[in-house]
Amino acid sequence: MIIELLMIGNEILIGKTQDTNSNWMAKRIVKYGHRLKRITTIEDDIGVISRTLQTILERKPDMLIITGGLGPTFDDMTLVGIAKGLNRELELNQHAYNSIKRAYDHAFKRGILKLEGMTKEREKMSYLPQGSIPLPNIRGTAPGVELKEGKTSIFVLPGVPAEMKAIFLNVIKPILKDKRGKFVEKNLLFMGIGESQIAPYVTKLEKKYPKLWIKTHPRIGLSLEVEISITGFNIENGDEIAERALDEIREIILSLNGRIRERK
Ligand code: ATP
Ligand code: MG
Repeated sequence: MIIELLMIGNEILIGKTQDTNSNWMAKRIVKYGHRLKRITTIEDDIGVISRTLQTILERKPDMLIITGGLGPTFDDMTLVGIAKGLNRELELNQHAYNSIKRAYDHAFKRGILKLEGMTKEREKMSYLPQGSIPLPNIRGTAPGVELKEGKTSIFVLPGVPAEMKAIFLNVIKPILKDKRGKFVEKNLLFMGIGESQIAPYVTKLEKKYPKLWIKTHPRIGLSLEVEISITGFNIENGDEIAERALDEIREIILSLNGRIRERK
């Protein structure tokens, strides 16, 4: 699948919070052989959210995962922005309402919260864009949301990492596994040849193996150590092909009097 992430939060843009959610999700998306094409980070603003959502949907990814404020406060405008971007109304979702009410009743009875019942702020969390399926949030109160627009499955998760992770693992991971693709990765470390010297050979190899991404990364200083990585998604016999490309690189390095230091 082609996947995009949209991270919403002023806290990230002012440097108060480091966005760990996207990195955490990226690792898991790639692990199951899917292609994460873009990560976009924007502020909590209804207009920005709706316009950004529309731009992403024009690219028609198979899946879009959004994290942001789903909480009871006025600054949590994620779902308002999404509804606007999709041209849908927000409507009271009875399933969401019941589960939010249950969570607050439970917290009140146990003495965790002093305020009883459904207030306006608490009710706010049960207003979801038309067509939403609420996703139970076992680590918090505001449910996540699943939506479909064209061929894109949209998942809206809470920004709080523990809540995001719980819903991701319960709902999204099974889909990633079910539709898994194949990701191959091969790495090689060499010394004695600079990145610029090997560059024309890499370009030639990329033409020969158009489905592989062959990239060099300098590791120490100017040219002391260079790592070469070969990656590819959903290639038939990908492992064999990447191995063949790696063999060719090994030959090239040796012919240029480079030294291969390590093979991972
Ligand atoms: P609140 O009502 O407290 O604002 P919320 O449900 O509205 O909670 P957010 O506003 O999105 O959720 O985020 C709550 C907190 O979660 C943020 O203050 C931040 O610390 C953390 N958070 C949000 N997004 C991320 C992210 N991408 N990576 C790491 N932490 C994040
Ligand atoms: Mg918030």
